[in-house]
Amino acid sequence: MLRFDIVETQASVWDKLKKVITGEQVAHAYLFQGPVGAGKEDTAYLFAASLNCLAPAGGVACGSCSSCQKVVHGNHPNIHVISPDGAFIKLQQMKELKKSIFLRQVDAGYQVVIVLQADKMTPETANSMLKILEEPPQRTVFILVANNNWALLPTVVSRCQKLSFKSLSIEERARVLAGEVSCDAAGAAVVLRLANGNETTAREMIEEGILELRDRVIHQAAGIAKLNAADALFLAEEWAKSDPEIVLKILLLWYRDLEVWKKTGAESLIVNQDKLDALKKAAEQIEEPQEIIDILLLAQQALVHNANKQLAMENMLLQWVKACG
Ligand SMILES: [Zn+2]
Repeated sequence: MLRFDIVETQASVWDKLKKVITGEQVAHAYLFQGPVGAGKEDTAYLFAASLNCLAPAGGVACGSCSSCQKVVHGNHPNIHVISPDGAFIKLQQMKELKKSIFLRQVDAGYQVVIVLQADKMTPETANSMLKILEEPPQRTVFILVANNNWALLPTVVSRCQKLSFKSLSIEERARVLAGEVSCDAAGAAVVLRLANGNETTAREMIEEGILELRDRVIHQAAGIAKLNAADALFLAEEWAKSDPEIVLKILLLWYRDLEVWKKTGAESLIVNQDKLDALKKAAEQIEEPQEIIDILLLAQQALVHNANKQLAMENMLLQWVKACG
């Protein structure tokens, strides 16, 4: 899949790349550096596609010509990708690559070698690549993608044009995530926060139904004021059996939003953007969200210290019911 949103989100990188493509001033090697999740790999593929596209617009691949389609399907003959085989990129891999790039006659576009996790090259591999860069085959571009460029040989770094990627905001990353899974950007932003910013975890959480769980938990929380002790213990059992850590995180984010809304009335500061109506309604029913937040934090502490889950949930809900009375 080619991701085009990256042209906007990494605008300063792409301004440079578009000039490279339209001016045909292509260097032999680029180093893409920056934080995980910044779109370096996606940019590498889109740059490779753009260098080979039959009808690029303003330097960016069209996404639909026969060349772009081959990139999408991972079978473009001009594009070679190497990544660690086990812990490292091995010398043998570079030798095989060397054979194939020197053998190919490039009639149109550019031959592009994308080296993923380039910081995982062994010194032998890196030296072998340096030799290629000293006398590269015609119309061939290396793109090194690295999270830790301190782990690269300085001799390699000095041969590359460096492009630095900025870290993306939660909202920008949520838009990307929403394109990959079945949920909207607002929901994806909530889940990214629940997952402490980790996209892989967020993707798994969405697939496991975290947003449905959030809806249920928020609905249940709204009814807690009316529960008697027996019902509270029943709900405690349900939450203890699902995933109490996640339930607490959902609730903490929700009551944080309630507190922020009551204090500021600023919609833009709310995380649960897709639940604004429900949030405003809930805010009318509660005096001091901070009181509930304190109760939730105590339960979270108890779980961190390996308390019995059922007991921790029971304690929490009994205190909660009391605080509402
Ligand atoms: Zn194209």
